[in-house]
Amino acid sequence: MANVKISNLNKKYPNGFHAVKDVNLEIIDKEFMILVGPSGCGKTTTLRMIAGLEEITSGEMQIGDQIVNDVSPKDRNIAMVFQNYALYPHMTVYDNMAFGLKLKKTPKAEIDERITKAARILDIEVLLKRKPKQLSGGQRQRVALGRAIVRKPEVFLMDEPLSNLDAKLRVQMRAELIKLHNDLKTTFIYVTHDQTEAMTMGTRICVMNNGLVQQVADPRTIYNSP
Ligand code: ADP
Ligand code: ADP
Repeated sequence: MANVKISNLNKKYPNGFHAVKDVNLEIIDKEFMILVGPSGCGKTTTLRMIAGLEEITSGEMQIGDQIVNDVSPKDRNIAMVFQNYALYPHMTVYDNMAFGLKLKKTPKAEIDERITKAARILDIEVLLKRKPKQLSGGQRQRVALGRAIVRKPEVFLMDEPLSNLDAKLRVQMRAELIKLHNDLKTTFIYVTHDQTEAMTMGTRICVMNNGLVQQVADPRTIYNSP
């Protein structure tokens, strides 16, 4: 069980900018929660605080049963997929996917098994020996997802993962992400400024504006609200 419970969360950057203001939000185990809102409203900052990549100014962050304010990113049961994919350019797809597991001293046989399985789910089996620069944008995106999947996190954090893809591929990947969420049966927290993505993918949507949470509801309720 990995509910994510965010209580009275604030972020003030060192320059004094108050980017996240008293956010309260509970993300329920296995749901697909979308954080949506205009550029600069605090979505990425919130996501990075869930991941532990950004220090919390005040408030409490709970993942599962654990308060994680002082827990390092690698000890949180999360994996994050970034907008720019952040693949290691000098490594093959296989090595990109294996990297985190090797750090955790996962046995080679298990690494192979997890990569084979993830590669099958994402249809990237034939790409495992290639380097990132030999891949298309959509393929890189799949590899970035694969690298997250093999860690078997309870919570997936995604920051605008489709924004660098062309329109056609973006529509296709939306459907694939919905399927991936169903297959993995884990919690997804997904940041986007794209309302269509939010409405089509989320089981619930959290609308942010100017550092504040404005509304949290399912897509139908959001669509019908004034
Ligand atoms: P810290 O003091 O926590 O190290 P920094 O101020 O150095 O944080 O910035 C962290 C990251 O955010 C850096 O990658 C930086 O380039 C980026 N950053 C800094 N200022 C802004 C800004 N106004 N908007 C968006 N990103 C910024
Ligand atoms: P979003 O993801 O919704 O586009 P962000 O969370 O990236 O918004 O940024 C929220 C606000 O905080 C923005 O106004 C941004 O310029 C500012 N910001 C982001 N990083 C920094 C930083 N390191 N220092 C100062 N301000 C920052």
